[in-house]
This record gives sequence, C-alpha cells and structure tokens, in this order.
Amino acid sequence: MGKVAVTAAVIGGAAVCAAVALLVRHQLRNSSQSSRAAAILKEFQEKCGTPESKLKQVADAMTVEMHAGLASEGGSKLKMLISYVDNLPTGAEEGVYYALDLGGTNFRVLRVQLGGTNGGVVDQEFAELSIPPSLMVGTSQELFDYIAAELAKFVAQEGDRFQLPDGRKRELGFTFSFPVMQNSIVSGTLMRWTKGFSIDDAVGKDVVAELSSAMERQGVEMHVSALVNDTVGTLAGGRYTNKDVVMAVIMGTGTNAAYVERSQAIPKWHGPQPESGEMVINMEWGNFRSSHLPLTEYDNELDAESLNPGEQIFEKLTSGMYLGEIVRRVLCRMAEESALFGDTVPPKLRTPFILRTPDMSAMHHDTSYDLKVVGNKLKDILEISNTTLKVRKVVVELCDIVARRGARLAAAGILGILKKTGRDSFKDGDSQKTVIAMDGGLYEHYTAYRECLEATLKELLDDEVAEHIVCEHSNDGSGIGAALLAASHSWYLS
Ligand code: ADP
Ligand code: MG
Repeated sequence: MGKVAVTAAVIGGAAVCAAVALLVRHQLRNSSQSSRAAAILKEFQEKCGTPESKLKQVADAMTVEMHAGLASEGGSKLKMLISYVDNLPTGAEEGVYYALDLGGTNFRVLRVQLGGTNGGVVDQEFAELSIPPSLMVGTSQELFDYIAAELAKFVAQEGDRFQLPDGRKRELGFTFSFPVMQNSIVSGTLMRWTKGFSIDDAVGKDVVAELSSAMERQGVEMHVSALVNDTVGTLAGGRYTNKDVVMAVIMGTGTNAAYVERSQAIPKWHGPQPESGEMVINMEWGNFRSSHLPLTEYDNELDAESLNPGEQIFEKLTSGMYLGEIVRRVLCRMAEESALFGDTVPPKLRTPFILRTPDMSAMHHDTSYDLKVVGNKLKDILEISNTTLKVRKVVVELCDIVARRGARLAAAGILGILKKTGRDSFKDGDSQKTVIAMDGGLYEHYTAYRECLEATLKELLDDEVAEHIVCEHSNDGSGIGAALLAASHSWYLS
C-alpha cells in the first residue's frame, strides 16, 4: 500500500470512528436524558406515595384537628365554623325562593318554587355566569355590584309560574364559599379569600351587608334570609332528597366539607343549645395541613408562589384549581433537566396555570392507541408539536400520579370525619346508612379522580362499614340547599 493510500485509509477510519463516537454520544445523551426524565418521574411518584398506613395517619390528624377547631376559636388550622344551621330541611318548605352562589370561577343564580310537604321542587330556573378575572382582584364594591346587576336581570325574567304571595319581598339564600365567621344565619364577616380571589377591602366586612347595599344600588328588592357556605348548602340540598345525608364534600375549584355535629360536642359554642341537638359545621378543610401530607418540592414552590402562601395546603394537593398546575410544574422540570421536549424548554410551559385541570383530565382519560388527545393538548395548549408516544405516556403517568394522590387524600379526609362522628365502625344490628353528598366540577367530571376517591374510601373502611357508606352526587345541591335554608329562615316566619 502506498503512502497516500495509507493516509487515506487512516483518515477514512478516523472519520468513521468520529461518526460512530458522535452517534454513540448522541444516543448516550438521549438515553441519559430519558433516564433522567424517568428518574424525575420516579422520584416524584415516590414522594407522592399514599399507602394505606399514611392515609390513616392523615385521617387521624384530620380528626385531631377537628376536635381542636371545635374546642376553641383559632385552636386549629381547621376553622370548624359554626353555620347557625341547626335544622336541616324537612321537606315542608314552601314558596318561591332565590339563591345566589358565589364561590369560584362561576356564579349562579337560581329561583325555585318549593311545593311544601311531599311537593318537592315544583319548578326551578337558573343562570350561570363567569366572573371576569379583573373583578376577582378588584374592589369589594365592583364585585358585588356586578353580581347584584346580574341578579337584577335574572329577577326581571321571572315568569308567572313563580308565585310570590302579595305584600312579600323576594327572599334569597346567599351561598358564599369562602371562609366566613358567622354571627347569625344572616350575617358573617369574610376572614380571607381563597381560590384565586384577592380583594383586600372586603376582608373583615359583613358579606351580607356588602351584598345588600349592592342590591340596593342596583335596584333589587330582596331580603337576604340565609348566608351559607356551599358545603352547608349541599348538605341541606342533599338532606332534602335523602334523610341519610350527614355530610357534604365539594371537590371543585377548591375543596371543603361540612357535616352534622352534636351541638354538645362543640365546646366553643356558647349560645343556647338548639332543640335538635345538632349543628352543621363548615370545616374549611381546604386549610388542613399535617406533617403526614406527602408534599413535594413542586407543591412547596406552587404554594410559595400562590396568592395565599402557607394557607389551604390540603386544597392545593387535592382540588381542581391546582392539579393541572402541579403537572405543569413537573413537566417543566423534566423539560429543563432532561430535554423532554427537545433542546429548549417550550416557552408556554413556563406560564403558571396554563395547563388547566379539565385538560389534564382529558389527557388522563385518553384511550386512543397513540394518545392522540395528549398530543393535541400538548400542541394546542403548550405549543409542543411532534411528541413521541413515549413522551405522551410520561404525561399520562404524571396526570395519574397527581390525580391519585389528590383523590386518595380526599378519601382520607372523609375517613377523618367518619371517625369524628363515630361512623367508621359497625355497630351490630345497625343498618343506618351514612350518605355523603358530593359535588363540584372535579368530582363530577374527572372520572378517574372520582373513582379513585370512592375506591380508596372503601379500601380504608372495613367491608361491613363500607357497605353502609354511600357517596351520592348532589348535582348543584348547594343552590337548592341555599333556597331551602332561606325558606326555613324566612323573614315572614314568626
Ligand atoms: P366552583 O368550584 O368554581 O364553584 P365547580 O364545582 O363547577 O365550580 O368546579 C369547577 C372546577 O371543576 C374547575 O375549576 C375545574 O378545576 C374542575 N373541572 C371542571 N370540569 C372538569 C373536567 N372535565 N375535568 C376535571 N376537572 C374539571
Ligand atoms: Mg361551587
């Protein structure tokens, strides 16, 4: 072989070697990246773990906090608010009543004609409107004026089917789903905002007074006859149709629960003991927190950057406002550290709250063989195109981890209430059912979440007990419930 030929062969060989090295390096980089992605996923999954033993600790912690919150004002992260509802609907309520439900992204107005004993709900009409985001962080007057103006429009559409007795003003049950310290069934001061609302000048004010003055400004002639939390409304609405309803849980934008407590078991209640011996307690359980909760760095960051850092930790793990955002945060970390979506982090992925829980739910439920829904959502929402099946599977897995953790923790919370009320054990010969009125968009529409919640509750209870405990969807029970409570607390009752 001549010198030139040798040189050429060497150069050729070197080129081949370089190309192979490049290829191997590239593959290595890819495989180390994908193993980095797998490691992030695995670590997150482990930190989100909710074995039965942990859930039972969470339930016990919930029970302990319930006792503490009932013992004294400010005794616990759980406010355990006294609702002043000591009589749930009986079925005898009669007449036309309005309800207004404010507590999330939408608000609803409703009118019902109640038929009295055995009459049930004879007729009802409602309207649903979204709250312009600017009003969620504006002034108290702007928010309440907007609501009162919409209420005025709704009242103007009342047809002849609804019969208001002569000489009476219309009456309203006001469902206001934020923490309120009530002074009576028709008054209460706002303690703080949750769920993305932040209107400083409303805190500490009486929300019924705020609504009433706005109604006056907008020319709505109406009495506010009951101020209720949505969980209390759902409990009342649930009881109207099923006498075994003893608690209500809402999983929507936020989360909360209410239940019937023995009035003697409320040390902080210094008022007269109600005849019924019962009082509905609005737990404000969204603010529950415990060292047993499986919090990850993503949850801590979400909390730190939220409008209410340090508050509503249980809500931030379990409710609709936050689940999609947790998924986004983990995806963002994967994009940064493992180039999950290519060499640069897709800019949209850095936008907080861009991935909403309904979209997460749609991806989670994608049953197509190539996960087409996941691909489309990633493209439409995050502008990430050409994702591989492997990447889409990672996304689904992530949704599953986040939804399961939330649903299982919610079930543990319910177990905590069952324990507090002695309904977690079976007494021989007792065939009493315990019905939980459930509502909220997350519970209603996120099937995997709902199923996991209900299965976990069964898993946590003995079989015999589980047979007697039923979750029942109370579709917008809170609106009807508020109207029912307005009826039982009517201005025109002696
Ligand atoms: P709110 O809690 O605001 O009073 P809803 O009870 O209707 O109102 O709950 C709305 C919330 O439910 C949304 O913010 C969203 O988080 C969740 N949600 C609605 N639809 C879906 C869905 N298809 N999948 C998952 N979550 C959903
Ligand atoms: Mg609601």
